Amino acid sequence: MRGSYRKRRIQLPPRFGHFKPAGVPKRFLEKIDLTVDEFEAIRLADYEQLEHLEASEKMNISRPTFTRLIEKARGKVAAAIIEGKELVIEGGNIDFVNTLHHCRECGEVSPRSVDEDAEDCPDCGSPNVEDLAWHFSGRHRGRRGRIR
Ligand SMILES: [Zn+2]
Repeated sequence: MRGSYRKRRIQLPPRFGHFKPAGVPKRFLEKIDLTVDEFEAIRLADYEQLEHLEASEKMNISRPTFTRLIEKARGKVAAAIIEGKELVIEGGNIDFVNTLHHCRECGEVSPRSVDEDAEDCPDCGSPNVEDLAWHFSGRHRGRRGRIR
């Protein structure tokens, strides 16, 4: 089934998908979902320091849509670090251009095109390599409901 808006293009999956305040047991934490497209907006505007127009073109969305997206994303990250919430990156109507292959044995991360199959780790030779674009591509979605 199609979403109600076109897919947002993501250059690279997040390397880490889960952040929490140190020293607080998970059961006491409220969770905030940052969608992968919100994460990408922060990466492009605040990390790569791109102008909103350029960033919006990379994501295949309009500039006003990008501006709304980055404002929502910043609000969530701010709430997480100020209020001490668990921040989980997941979901979004997204399409990856590139991926990262992450070795679960040694932690090596290698950039790849999304068309390439995961091979044994180039560093340690382990076959236990996960494709992070696959991990973040929405198959783990559902159940959690709407974002606060
Ligand atoms: Zn490895």
